Amino acid sequence: MDELVSLCKRRGFVFQSNEIYGGTQGLYDYGPLGVELKNNLKASWWSSMVYERDDIEGLDASILSKPSVLKHSGHEDTFTDPLVDCKSCKSRWRTDHISDGCCPDCGSEDLTDPRPFNLMFKTSIGPIDDGKSFAYLRPETAQQIFINFKNVVDSTSRSLPFGIAQIGKAFRNEVTPRNFIFRLREFEQMELEFFVERGTDEKWLDYWVKKRLDWWTSQGIPKKRLRLFEVPKEGLSHYSKKTVDIMYAFPHGEEELEGVANRTDFDLGSHTKNQNDYKIDSSVNENKESTTKLAVQDKNNNWEIPYVIEPSAGLDRGVLAILNEAYNVEKLGENKERVVLSLLPHLAPIKAAIIPLKKNNKELVNLAKKIKASLQTLGLGRVLLENSGNIGKSYRRHDEIGTPVCVTVDFDSLEKETVTLRDRDTMSQKTIDINELGSVLTKTIRKQ
Ligand code: ATP
Repeated sequence: MDELVSLCKRRGFVFQSNEIYGGTQGLYDYGPLGVELKNNLKASWWSSMVYERDDIEGLDASILSKPSVLKHSGHEDTFTDPLVDCKSCKSRWRTDHISDGCCPDCGSEDLTDPRPFNLMFKTSIGPIDDGKSFAYLRPETAQQIFINFKNVVDSTSRSLPFGIAQIGKAFRNEVTPRNFIFRLREFEQMELEFFVERGTDEKWLDYWVKKRLDWWTSQGIPKKRLRLFEVPKEGLSHYSKKTVDIMYAFPHGEEELEGVANRTDFDLGSHTKNQNDYKIDSSVNENKESTTKLAVQDKNNNWEIPYVIEPSAGLDRGVLAILNEAYNVEKLGENKERVVLSLLPHLAPIKAAIIPLKKNNKELVNLAKKIKASLQTLGLGRVLLENSGNIGKSYRRHDEIGTPVCVTVDFDSLEKETVTLRDRDTMSQKTIDINELGSVLTKTIRKQ
């Protein structure tokens, strides 16, 4: 983990937030390379959910949530962690992070009794902070999907089964944020709510667990590093009938990367108006505030509240897992080694680096610029002009940040219109015509 954190800072993947003012626990900023990696991972998720299927729609809803939403979702009452304080060293812990009744920091057994602590952040809305008009920063992206259910159904004419996908920020005032970007107070989720007929929910849960496992392996995480864990009854969230967590062997230990939950008809049943008109299986609180019916018509034209299966993935945890898998220190000889980030090409922050052999040669630099501009138009992602004048150093830097190919522009490029391609993984080099570059790069980046 220390090596990863240091690489992330040195090369511009992830920085501590508010660092120049001493930093804030549980908040991180994504730097020039981090933002590319994160965007590439989001794009891959979105493509697999929305573009490559015909039964899922997208959504991008607001973060600030009216208290009614999180009252009826159950979060006001139940979104709490039991918390204990260590009376000796004054540290604060989630009860489930304490083992053998001892403080993990100082080992003291002098701990307070557990007490509930609500994890939601609040902020005021409008110019007068009278405590009445406040909003929550959403603790999950899911609730905005549920409350937009009718809008999406009406505007797209969807019938069951179908899903709504959303990527966005979520906020939790975690008691003990830790392990770099694993447990954050501000993070991003990639969530799908997949609405199904009651009775088909168990089958769809199995379907999504398998799909999600396959997707993570297609992002470069070997199956053997992932494990499925069925959450025991007593650990289930208030809405869940069954949850299967996809666990990954993070550098600090095995923990949850994604949760796939059967949320039953709890959420739509909780947010709908006229609850008594429907058969709702889960136990929901009375809702007198909702103005909208969140139901669909079945084959016999009866109104029913669908069940929902939710694969909910943490984007930041995904970035951490992917970086961890990609990070390699290779021995090259007796005393030589290289650090290489073997990211799959579609995730690499920089797709190709164009390197003129000499920094101050106008003709070489101009040709390199022209090549960069033309490759950039292919829409494969960021192509970088690397005018450092030191080829060896440039190769090392690009190995370390995961650039799949380096393109060297030399005097043959001017005379014979060829360039040298250097492959990150094999370090092999070959000469190709400049006019072949576009198709070669496209093949490399889109190869899986
Ligand atoms: P944990 O048990 O680790 O606190 P959770 O079960 O509360 O996680 P969910 O509510 O199921 O998490 O959220 C879905 C996903 O969102 C998680 O699988 C995780 O990837 C991500 N996530 C949740 N909390 C955080 C956090 N504090 N920081 C980063 N990612 C998070």
